Amino acid sequence: MSQKIISFHYTLTGPDGKTLDSSADGEPLTFLEGVGQVIPGLETELSGMKVGDKKHIKVKAKDAYGEKHPDNIVEVPLSQMPTRGIKAGDRFRAGQDSHSPVVTALKVTETHVTLDGNHPLAGMDLAFDVEITEVREATKDELAHGHAHGPGGHHH
Ligand code: ZN
Repeated sequence: MSQKIISFHYTLTGPDGKTLDSSADGEPLTFLEGVGQVIPGLETELSGMKVGDKKHIKVKAKDAYGEKHPDNIVEVPLSQMPTRGIKAGDRFRAGQDSHSPVVTALKVTETHVTLDGNHPLAGMDLAFDVEITEVREATKDELAHGHAHGPGGHHH
């Protein structure tokens, strides 16, 4: 099956209609089809759209960032945290490298911090207003690397 590189502008709104994220002020998002770079509920809809097409896409939580898992919420002694002065609402990476999952501090007491490893958008039904800006065949290199190159993709 031939895989495509798709670029699109988007505005993401949450269940309460508030804008959570948008590409309007920057480059469109570019991704390689079929490798899970965008959430499944969005990828299904984007595949088959043409340049200039616009669509309002509703994605249920389970097809977006999944439901919240209680198992991903843990209490950690502050003494085990690498940083001091953690406040509720802080977000940081759980490990050293840039691929470590992002966790959110839910609650901080004198001794412990409650960390939520769920994606910040987990459990939310989302809506995307999208506009396709480019569709092209993926190059051999892109298929081998498993990601898009060029504007909006990887530069290396
Ligand atoms: Zn590459």
